[in-house]
Amino acid sequence: MNHAELLGWLREEDPVRLEELWRRADRVRRVQVGDEVHLRGLVELSNHCRRQCTYCGVRAGQRGLLRYRMTADEVLACAARARALGCGTLVLQSGEDEGLEAAWVADLVRRLKSESGLTVTLSLGEREERELRLWRAAGAERYLLRFETSNRRLYDAVHPSLPGRPSDRLADLRRLRELGFEVGSGVMVGLPGQGWDDLADDLELFRSLDLDMIGVGPFVPHAETPLGRAPRPAGPQQVPATVTLACQVVALARLLCPRANIPATTALDALASRRGWELGLTRGANVVMPNLTPLGYRALYEIYPGKELLREAEGCGEPGPRERVLALGRTVGAGPGGSRAFVERPGRALAPSQGEEPCPLCL
Ligand code: SAH
Repeated sequence: MNHAELLGWLREEDPVRLEELWRRADRVRRVQVGDEVHLRGLVELSNHCRRQCTYCGVRAGQRGLLRYRMTADEVLACAARARALGCGTLVLQSGEDEGLEAAWVADLVRRLKSESGLTVTLSLGEREERELRLWRAAGAERYLLRFETSNRRLYDAVHPSLPGRPSDRLADLRRLRELGFEVGSGVMVGLPGQGWDDLADDLELFRSLDLDMIGVGPFVPHAETPLGRAPRPAGPQQVPATVTLACQVVALARLLCPRANIPATTALDALASRRGWELGLTRGANVVMPNLTPLGYRALYEIYPGKELLREAEGCGEPGPRERVLALGRTVGAGPGGSRAFVERPGRALAPSQGEEPCPLCL
């Protein structure tokens, strides 16, 4: 699919044509990655952050926000719940928190690996190569770092660099791959200032990076942030932050990157009033990320409004993740659920990380 065709699908509004797109993406999903839906338990490890991203509710300097950092024991308790829920993977996400010391994180990863046996995904922002290397050696298998938008000017405006340290997430993604991580990235849909060409470029970048995991969610304005306070730009070039457009990007990502793992994101679920997983999973996605952060902390990890109200793992009378997956006629994936893009990549780093059993595929 070329740029013009991508633009055509992105701008499509005809419901009949959109049904065709959903059907195609769902078919490719079924053929390439099957009916299993992998559950990734999400733990929001810390809301401390040194960055000033204009979209994010936990950005540095956010007034009146109580900051927290979970203890290792609290994370291990979440890991036990993840296992009980049928998750094969634990995702540790945080603000870009220097207080999360590299050695402490490495130790946590080692404990998680030995005590829970879960696959560990990190999403801790832009960190030094030596830190990433340490975490990989401790046994962390995956890293998520969204490039947010491929429009460099827009990226610089919404994600200011730290003084003297230009942010270059594409270089970070390359480094993560060299270190042997399974690499995920993604974008927000509907950022103020984001145009149609930008979205088509984002999709082409997913393809050229040959990503293992692709996370796409609608931008959800947070009233206490610069982007949440600013008037939304109007005009024919501005893309809307809608559920449907986010689904179009998910569906096209599936067509361009058929073997990637693609979540139906929490932001999609929040904006679609808890129907977002179902929409995503039937339009190309094959992963969901139930939030296992203890409720008291979850309310403080408000990167956008509404997400802390999603209590999909709480057993509070609402259908849980497993029920929601089964209700779609799909199955819950067992085991680590690594992406085919990664597992089948020729010449991928073969050395197992320290402390890990050698992978039978690598012998
Ligand atoms: N500090 C880490 C994790 C950030 S939170 C990092 O920067 O990588 C994970 C993702 O949430 C971000 O990458 C961003 O794409 C998304 N996000 C942040 N604020 C958002 C908002 N207001 N609306 C929708 N998604 C948002």
